[in-house]
Amino acid sequence: MQPQKENMEINEDIVIVGAGIAGLATSVALHRLGVRSIVLESSESLRTSGFALALWTNAWRALDALGVGDSLRQLSLHFTRFQAFSADSGLPIAEISLEANNKPIDYDSRCIKRQEIVETLEKELPPGTIKYSSRVISIEQSGVFKLVHLADKTVLRTKVLIGCDGVNSVVAKCMGLQKPVDANRSAIRGYVEYPKAHGFEPKFCAYFGGGVRIGFLPCDDKSLYWFCTFTPSDYDEKIEGSPTKMKQFVLSLASNVSKEAYNILERTSLDSLHCAKLKLRSPWDILKRDNIVKNNTCLVGDALHPMTPDIGQGGCSALEDSVVLARCISEAIFARKLIKVEKLEEGDELYKRIKVGLEKYAKERKWRIFSLISTSYLVGLAQESNGMVISYLREKFLAQFTIKTMLKMGDFDCGKLLK
Ligand SMILES: Cc1cc2nc3c(=O)[nH]c(=O)nc-3n(C[C@H](O)[C@H](O)[C@H](O)COP(=O)(O)OP(=O)(O)OC[C@H]3O[C@@H](n4cnc5c(N)ncnc54)[C@H](O)[C@@H]3O)c2cc1C
Repeated sequence: MQPQKENMEINEDIVIVGAGIAGLATSVALHRLGVRSIVLESSESLRTSGFALALWTNAWRALDALGVGDSLRQLSLHFTRFQAFSADSGLPIAEISLEANNKPIDYDSRCIKRQEIVETLEKELPPGTIKYSSRVISIEQSGVFKLVHLADKTVLRTKVLIGCDGVNSVVAKCMGLQKPVDANRSAIRGYVEYPKAHGFEPKFCAYFGGGVRIGFLPCDDKSLYWFCTFTPSDYDEKIEGSPTKMKQFVLSLASNVSKEAYNILERTSLDSLHCAKLKLRSPWDILKRDNIVKNNTCLVGDALHPMTPDIGQGGCSALEDSVVLARCISEAIFARKLIKVEKLEEGDELYKRIKVGLEKYAKERKWRIFSLISTSYLVGLAQESNGMVISYLREKFLAQFTIKTMLKMGDFDCGKLLK
């Protein structure tokens, strides 16, 4: 048994809870602007559940601002096109080129392994920034400070608390936010690594309709990521704990996908499957400022805006959040050169400035997040529904329209980080 620690109180200027994409990117963004932070992570090491994720143009712009865009580009393939097929018939229903020729937007769409993105971000941080095995169990107000209590009884006293602790966020709970709602849909994700080049074209290939969305995305020459979203019945609920059942279930849904795509599913080993229920925050909740920022506490990424994965923007928008937040905090701190405040009382200038900085972040982000959550939900309905009318419209124009919408939502620039 580990010896029990004494109650220790440690002072920190900025505490970030969670070392997922949001927490790491926020800490890197602050670091780029000369602002120190620490990141508390409950796990013993970086978590990479979910295998990989699609990153759209907005995410690559944010990664460029963080200074890691080019190194991550070298680890991924640039998608040349987005192809959609009917999951009912297997026939093509939409295709959009992602090549730069004659386009107003230079799309940058790629799929990247989660491990690569979190490890790359971690390397950018000064040693010791991430405190592993540090699970936050409660948060308490102490004057204008926050006391952050960890499971090992350590207590941190901080001026700024940033919740990047994902969909079941403790920080969001302490701010009084409602729990995210169940989307009544689930997703199974899989990852396959080939001994030699897989030969799959660098494209986003997806099957829509009949109550499912199945997508295939190469990460690099030797690995592929796939996802399958669906509305589970009472029976399907039971597959979550059984990889064998998950695989059988996905194969049963994929009877109309191409032979090449079916082989990818068949090849997936049982330890490379992951099933999760989909959750989202009501977009209306985001319009209340107190739900994004409260005094010296704020939220980033899934802690703030869990959304259905239908436009692949959860992680991308977390990267946008991190750049915008770091800029707002640094502008607030360095507004008139940093004043060293030993004892921060309510009304102190620095505290007031940080509060204004966080409010600016909330103002800048709320409509963007509102539109991402709502669009994602609607795109999911249009792409997955098995209703006759939507199925008919999807084959006529909705599939093409939803892909264009996904690309449009990804054409956002969160700006740069300039000292
Ligand atoms: C099926 C599916 C497909 C998706 N596809 C895409 C995609 O293609 N593109 C895309 O951009 N997004 C996608 N997403 C969304 C994306 O995965 C998330 O938006 C993103 O991972 C959120 O990152 P985060 O850092 O906010 O949260 P998380 O990744 O959940 O990280 C939270 C971290 O906080 C830690 N933590 C939690 N509680 C505590 C605590 N109390 N104390 C200390 N640490 C704590 C956790 O251990 C974890 O490391 C998808 C999501 C799903 C479900």
